Amino acid sequence: MLKTCVFVIFSLFSSVVSAEFVLKVHNIDDNVYALVGELTQRSETNLGNNSTHGVIVTDEGVILIDAGASYLGAKQIHKAIQTLTDKPIKFVINSGGQDHRWLGNDYFKELGATIVASKNAREDHKARADQQLVGLETLIGKSLKGTKPAFATEVFDSQKKITLGGVNLELYHVGSAHTLGDVFIWMPEKRIMFTGDIVYNNRMLGIGPAQNFQSWIEVFEKMASYKPKHIIPGHGDPSSLEVATKNTYEYLLFLKAKVADILDNDGEMLDALKIDQSQYHYLVNHESIAGKNAQWVFEQMEFDY
Ligand SMILES: [Zn+2]
Repeated sequence: MLKTCVFVIFSLFSSVVSAEFVLKVHNIDDNVYALVGELTQRSETNLGNNSTHGVIVTDEGVILIDAGASYLGAKQIHKAIQTLTDKPIKFVINSGGQDHRWLGNDYFKELGATIVASKNAREDHKARADQQLVGLETLIGKSLKGTKPAFATEVFDSQKKITLGGVNLELYHVGSAHTLGDVFIWMPEKRIMFTGDIVYNNRMLGIGPAQNFQSWIEVFEKMASYKPKHIIPGHGDPSSLEVATKNTYEYLLFLKAKVADILDNDGEMLDALKIDQSQYHYLVNHESIAGKNAQWVFEQMEFDY
């Protein structure tokens, strides 16, 4: 009897700790998918994949946009892809510098995939790998098991084309947005844009490691000039350009205008914290990030004034 009890308790416990958050698969067009992770912070159950990823299935294999934050996170992405196709993964594109864009590279490299990133992103990966691993250890604990940094095997300065199985992709790095090496990926035939951390939907963006919201605004404008029909963002659900513009671009312009008012009136950093951002409270995580964003924008604008 006691044995049974212990067993039941143990199985309950193990099912709780191993309850993995499952990526939600969105079908965007024929053979094009978005894998949408949690909107919250990285955790043991989401394996660090609090991010959105793109998948393109071609006759000759799969192109994956963003490798996941950990070895197990990459495996989880692979499992989701295997529900769509049994074709091999040929290319993994790292759209930026954050952990969920690239720390799963090693897993896909073992499967024989070519890993592509902008030169600036790869430099960013090299510079921040240790720091990202330490951060992930705190946030995802044992889900970090097996994670080893592996850097892109093909890099480019500002533009690159990839063709696989009749699908053409254009990769553009036009400046920093959330991180120093952010890239947007354009699929002209279907007018689909994969934006990585250049677009945040559903949750509030963080100005982020590049600390340059002005450049982010310009990068967004260049991305938007392609007039995409579908946006597959770096975080949150796939959307129209209009929705992405509201959640990311207009929010950056909003902060810029509010901080400009403060500076015009000889205000201080503390006034930036008091900016009323309630019109953006529909975005998840605003409690923890809104004030920091205002401060970061203030710092950059004060320096430029
Ligand atoms: Zn991100």
